[in-house]
Amino acid sequence: MVKQLKPAKHILITGGSRGIGRAVAIGAGERGWSVGVNYAGNEKAAAETVAAVKAAGGQAIAIQGDVASEADVIAMFDATMAAFGPLDGLVNNAGIVGPKQAFADYSLERMKRIFDINVLGAYLCAREAARRMSTSRGSQYGARGGSIVNLSSMAARLGSPGEYVDYAGSKGAIDTMTVGLARELAPEGIRVNAVRPGLIDTEIHASGGQPDRAARLGATTPMGRAGTAGEVAAAVLWLLEDSCDYLTASLLDVAGGR
Ligand code: NAP
Repeated sequence: MVKQLKPAKHILITGGSRGIGRAVAIGAGERGWSVGVNYAGNEKAAAETVAAVKAAGGQAIAIQGDVASEADVIAMFDATMAAFGPLDGLVNNAGIVGPKQAFADYSLERMKRIFDINVLGAYLCAREAARRMSTSRGSQYGARGGSIVNLSSMAARLGSPGEYVDYAGSKGAIDTMTVGLARELAPEGIRVNAVRPGLIDTEIHASGGQPDRAARLGATTPMGRAGTAGEVAAAVLWLLEDSCDYLTASLLDVAGGR
């Protein structure tokens, strides 16, 4: 019997330059996939990720763009599809936290920035993916269905009191979007799921002014440690694969039992 080779997938990862996004990109490269590696400002990190994807056996391009800008979002999808062809997946991963602060001290600017990037940005990217992967409306894009994986957080359930309640709420919006979009897009060949990481050892904690956060709080979890970007990436990659074709509208916790 001749073994059928699976066609390589073409995916876009927002915030693919570092952390969880980079780990997903490298895993995609190991599968021979093509990856649009979006980043906000860290050109060097994005170039390193692109090189790592290629070294792993895939194709990749770096695409600068702010997910909170509609024009940038459209341009990053255009660039990915111009380089590789029809899109098979979106990893809606770009996200930020603010500094640890009491809720009553939040500025309007802080909350707007969180919601612009984490919510509006993710919604814009999901919309663009829906337009381009839908089997009923994406014929001009060569649409053949696909998979959207949203990076939510355990914060959506825990609320992040005393740290960042705004961030937690932004991830709650991602959970709700995941379920609604999954049900709306199922007849159009698009699966939508979310991964909810717990405490993962990436630079996001330092960006919020707590570089030791993952190690410190990770030690208090049932597994007694923080997770790695690679452990989250494994779940994201599985949700992109065809082996879980019947899986949609799920919120998958990757949190060591937290
Ligand atoms: P990270 O290491 O801080 O990396 C953030 C990535 O997002 C970088 O690639 C960054 O690009 C990009 N980015 C930031 N703002 C952007 C914007 N406006 N437009 C486009 N890209 C932007 O973060 P991470 O820990 O890997 O987190 C990835 C996702 O997982 C986030 O959604 C986060 O909320 C979620 N998550 C993380 C944890 C955790 O413990 N790490 C837990 C739960 C959920 P540059 O390199 O150019 O700055």
